[in-house]
Amino acid sequence: QADERESMFLVSEFARDYFHKNLLEDEQGKAIGLSYFKERGYTEETIKKFQLGYALNEWEAFTTEALNKGYNLKYLESTGLTIVKQDLLAENGTKTFDRFKGRVLFPIHSMSGRVLGFGGRILTNDKKAAKYLNSPESDIYHKSNVLYGIHYAKQTIAKEDNCYLVEGYTDVISLYQSGIENVVSSSGTALTGNQIRLVNRLTKNITILFDGDAAGIRASIRGIDLILEQGMNVRVLMFPDGDDPDSYSKKVSKDELKNYLENNSQDFINFKVSLLMEEAKNDPVKKAGLIRDIVISISKIPDRIQREVYIQECARIMDISENVLFNELAQIDNKLK
Ligand code: ATP
Ligand code: MN
Ligand code: MN
Ligand code: MN
Repeated sequence: QADERESMFLVSEFARDYFHKNLLEDEQGKAIGLSYFKERGYTEETIKKFQLGYALNEWEAFTTEALNKGYNLKYLESTGLTIVKQDLLAENGTKTFDRFKGRVLFPIHSMSGRVLGFGGRILTNDKKAAKYLNSPESDIYHKSNVLYGIHYAKQTIAKEDNCYLVEGYTDVISLYQSGIENVVSSSGTALTGNQIRLVNRLTKNITILFDGDAAGIRASIRGIDLILEQGMNVRVLMFPDGDDPDSYSKKVSKDELKNYLENNSQDFINFKVSLLMEEAKNDPVKKAGLIRDIVISISKIPDRIQREVYIQECARIMDISENVLFNELAQIDNKLK
């Protein structure tokens, strides 16, 4: 089992090197992949740091190369790098395809820097194809246990005692290039407890930076409770309408970005209250629902004193008595028991 996993890592690391070389040296790779990344503003240094790649737009260029180099089809298939399909007309009854054909690639690393899988972005405007295609779940890649960028970010997360959490690969890379190195991404999946635990080993503070769209806001609200449950502190920060961290970081200087991040984050409670208050307005039924919702978040906080501080804060912002909130909290605690 350990040997099998090691073989999967080795073929993934071969793939990373091969795709990276294609991006930097192959004519097609340079014309299509490298120019794409350059148009997005990535420097050569960034491209090398993140080991970005390009999969040639051919059916089995990668698979053929890997087999020639002696890698076993079994591991090409189990890592999902190669798709094996039945084909009765083919010599041995099967046909192989490169999974990431024609995409630019983001290698996904473990905390220690092993390659677990890839995210591949399409370059055409083909609305029928998925914008991003990821490696499938496998013995080495469990997407709910992985945070993109953690290998690059871990030292700075510890040093700054804070971790920025963003939605996508390009957000991580752009922030990093702009000097914000303590940044990771859940890469489009809903945040999980295991992902948060990776950060929890390094810092107790998470700042969620989300895309300024409704989907981004919803996703981060769900993430908040999971972070609170682990006794961590959550702040949130929104970008101006339509921007995500990647696009925003390209509109401003490094200093402006740093200032924006430092001066515009809000504690989760203020954020949640103001967001939901906006929705509830003068509707008492909605407002009651909102109070319950917020108290549920507070009930996730393990530390008693911290809870109490939040209840006081919350009562003040919402202009209701602390008693109401404490009663609500007691009820929720009882239900959970
Ligand atoms: P870009 O700037 O290249 O358009 P993005 O990171 O801003 O990409 P979003 O649409 O905001 O893309 O999605 C955030 C993240 O969600 C992506 O980085 C990717 O990890 C994941 N994702 C998005 N679309 C898909 C998809 N169709 N299939 C799988 N994962 C996806
Ligand atoms: Mn988005
Ligand atoms: Mn985005
Ligand atoms: Mn984007």
